[in-house]
Amino acid sequence: MPLLAPMMQGTDVDWAYKTESQLFSSRGHRRYKQNWPRGKGLGGSGQLNYLVHSFGKSEDYKGWPKGWSHADLLPYFQRVSDSMNVIPMPEEEYLTKAFVLAEESLKLDNVSLRKAMYTAKKGSRWSTHHAYLQKAWNRENLHILTNTLVAKILFENKNIDGVRVIYKNGSVGKIRVRKEMILCAGTVNTPQLLMISGIGPVSELEKHKIAAVHDLPGVGRNLFDHLNVPIYVNLRERVSITLVKLQTLLEVFNYFVFGTGWLATNGVMGLGRANNSGILLFGVASAEEKLLKVIANFETETYRSLFPSYNDSMHEGFVYLVSCLQPKSRGNVTLRSVNIRDPPKINPAYLQNPEDVMCTQQGINLALETLNTKLFREYGAKVHVPDLEECRHLQQDYRDPDYSECVIRIAGFTGYHPCGTCRIGTDVNAVVDEELKVKGVRGLRIMDASVMPSPISGTPNSVLVAMAERVSDLILDRTSN
Ligand SMILES: Cc1cc2nc3c(=O)[nH]c(=O)nc-3n(C[C@H](O)[C@H](O)[C@H](O)COP(=O)(O)OP(=O)(O)OC[C@H]3O[C@@H](n4cnc5c(N)ncnc54)[C@H](O)[C@@H]3O)c2cc1C
Repeated sequence: MPLLAPMMQGTDVDWAYKTESQLFSSRGHRRYKQNWPRGKGLGGSGQLNYLVHSFGKSEDYKGWPKGWSHADLLPYFQRVSDSMNVIPMPEEEYLTKAFVLAEESLKLDNVSLRKAMYTAKKGSRWSTHHAYLQKAWNRENLHILTNTLVAKILFENKNIDGVRVIYKNGSVGKIRVRKEMILCAGTVNTPQLLMISGIGPVSELEKHKIAAVHDLPGVGRNLFDHLNVPIYVNLRERVSITLVKLQTLLEVFNYFVFGTGWLATNGVMGLGRANNSGILLFGVASAEEKLLKVIANFETETYRSLFPSYNDSMHEGFVYLVSCLQPKSRGNVTLRSVNIRDPPKINPAYLQNPEDVMCTQQGINLALETLNTKLFREYGAKVHVPDLEECRHLQQDYRDPDYSECVIRIAGFTGYHPCGTCRIGTDVNAVVDEELKVKGVRGLRIMDASVMPSPISGTPNSVLVAMAERVSDLILDRTSN
């Protein structure tokens, strides 16, 4: 059920990582740490993500290496729009309508406010598992091992030899590679596996007494993510998704019989941009306190200050998630130990670069502007200003840069889009070449979010599927370049 996606976090299908304590952000989070859910199982994080679709904007790809420009990827975007079943949020939704019309009223340069798109079919999640794996299910040359952990990649004189795996019962095995291996363990585990296997910055390998196969300084570096700041908006009219409305017989009937209604959507009504600042309108007014607070690792006081609906399942409102779409801060993934079962150290270094704060403030200003437009005014939309202890000495107004910075550094939580730790490129810090082959060794490619060189001004999943389509063409020698 798309709307209930957050409930998958912390369950068996989640690796449930935590970041290191953050220095420049996450001040309203327990021990200054962010929860980083990552999907476990067929479909990976696509099994628990929020299904929002985007290909970003063409400028995002400007610095990308040869073969990965926006023009190169366009035919694959078309393919992915079909395979991933991209559908729009119905425009007749009150909040979607207000959001889209706000663009016309605002008449600002470089501002786009659009209805959100998402990947679902007949009211159910549609992920790469559904779009690709299930189609290939009966192929004779497809073997799937579930509950099996890859513990190490094995090389012989820099040639890929195989992988060491740990089966569910704890026994260890080796799977040999005849031609090539494609590593797709994601932004956190791909660099972890490479380093454990002897590919990474020599200093990091030496720290853990790992014999170097190849010194690749960029492995684990260049980590970036979006950081979402929740701005709550109270409403007078009954136009949002409340817990009480979701529990009506009609809503439940419509979902289970016709696959329609709010439960069939992800609740994301609109996506907007002003230059590099982004806003996402999440139309759900209230949630179980435990759920949202726990999944984001918020301190109770922070959570209650930010969400006035925390104890009221009939409260009308929505949340703007504001972020800097092209953050400049870069963090890293490093090893905690050589044991694959030990989660690596994740330091996204959110907001280390002060420009990311300014970029987020511009997003907050855009969100506030929309509330002054006709339909939002008719709905009685009024921004909620959180009473956070750390910001009490400041003017309680989001237009005040000191106050908004204070809130941003307390309340920002992961956008769930970590990428970049094994980026494509031709320079010394790049990890894979333009064909996504790992530099310095033979027979190993990477295709996952770790190869993205820079952020997408939107959500990354559909872009990653398009990149995977292209690399499959490269492997089959079907590309024109
Ligand atoms: C809660 C959440 C919400 C999100 N919402 C959106 C959204 O709305 N829109 C969007 O575009 N993106 C969203 N994302 C991001 C998107 O889902 C990811 O960017 C994308 O799935 C990353 O794909 P990947 O292939 O890099 O890694 P993953 O999808 O994470 O796949 C990695 C796979 O490798 C497996 N693995 C890792 N280590 C090992 C090992 N040692 N042995 C064996 N297997 C291993 C994992 O179990 C997993 O199956 C969201 C992510 C999350 C977590």
